[in-house]
Amino acid sequence: MVSRVVFGRGSFNQLGEILESKRLSPTAPFIFLVDDVFKGDIFITTRIPLAYDDELIFISAAEEPKTSQVDELVEKIILTHNDRPSGIIGIGGGTILDLAKAVSIMLTNEGESKDYQGWDLVKTPAVYHVGIPTISGTGAEVSRTTVLTGPEKKLGINSDYTPFDQVILDPELTKNVPKQQWFYTGMDCYIHCIESLNGTFLNAFSQSYGEKAFELCKEIFVEGNLSEEESQDKLMMASWHGGMSIAYSQVGVAHAMSYGLSYLLGTKHGIGNCIVFNHLEEFYPEGVELFNKMKNLHGIELPEGLCADLTDEQFDIMIDVALGLEPLWMNAIGKNWKQVITREKLKSLYQKM
Ligand code: NAD
Ligand code: ZN
Repeated sequence: MVSRVVFGRGSFNQLGEILESKRLSPTAPFIFLVDDVFKGDIFITTRIPLAYDDELIFISAAEEPKTSQVDELVEKIILTHNDRPSGIIGIGGGTILDLAKAVSIMLTNEGESKDYQGWDLVKTPAVYHVGIPTISGTGAEVSRTTVLTGPEKKLGINSDYTPFDQVILDPELTKNVPKQQWFYTGMDCYIHCIESLNGTFLNAFSQSYGEKAFELCKEIFVEGNLSEEESQDKLMMASWHGGMSIAYSQVGVAHAMSYGLSYLLGTKHGIGNCIVFNHLEEFYPEGVELFNKMKNLHGIELPEGLCADLTDEQFDIMIDVALGLEPLWMNAIGKNWKQVITREKLKSLYQKM
């Protein structure tokens, strides 16, 4: 679990104070990985407490993190600075938060990041790392994974050293998120709740967080009588609780299939989950019904025909990626999942998307 967290509008201002005691030496810098959407945004950039040899690196979130990108960043940091960094601070959405987690791990672990995709392969504690989300929904700020696309698979580095040492939850940072992106990333949280609450791995720990996140999602996306600020505050907490819920259970069908879309077509996580979830009424009937209601309430039209022109080989690639996520299917369907989830079944679902 994340060991330290502060919450509140304006809490981003505490970053300097928080980092002060964590600086190892004047030559051991803090490296700030910041979403490049904030380039020139003085509301954010002027509040980043740079000192000594600290470095700010802007990173595009146009594509999801790759293992090669992590390795390049690590190399760049090692070559630029004499000393190992005092800490890595990620400021952005799931893309930047995952990069920050992965870079902090790879600064202390040998080899390439692709070697650590899987469960509990990291053996050495990561460099101190801080997560500051600027968009809510993924739960990446709280989870024990960092999802990376590697040469062979899209899979997380799941380990006890992955979670942030410190998280700053400042809902004010999310005020300029574009409406569509707000919906897609928010729905990631909603889908985490549905998949966790309807999974066979469900337990009292996951259920208590999942139910709270689900309730908050309904307040935000269905009932709609919140002020903008209340809505930002509550979505940030929904994301946290949704992440906590899956931390002790698993996600399910939408995530497994959306990983396939993302691996082959580069479809981003939030929108990809929405595109898949839209066709999963046989697995999550009530969840999909409410999802359709939310889509209509917010005037969201999802892209169609994504898989219209794919070849059999391309379908096979997506199906292989999806089927590789065994724990997700075990959670969603149960031990006999292989009897239900056949290659033909997945192909017929992908063909609808
Ligand atoms: P994102 O980080 O990809 O950002 C989406 C878009 O929103 C980008 O264009 C970004 O620049 C923009 N944006 C972010 N904050 C903004 C702000 N305050 N104002 C204006 N624009 C802003 O989106 P995401 O949905 O948060 O993250 C998706 C990523 O998270 C995927 O790579 C996915 O694999 C990962 N993920 C990780 C976990 C985990 O547990 N580690 C869980 C779910 C998803
Ligand atoms: Zn997700």
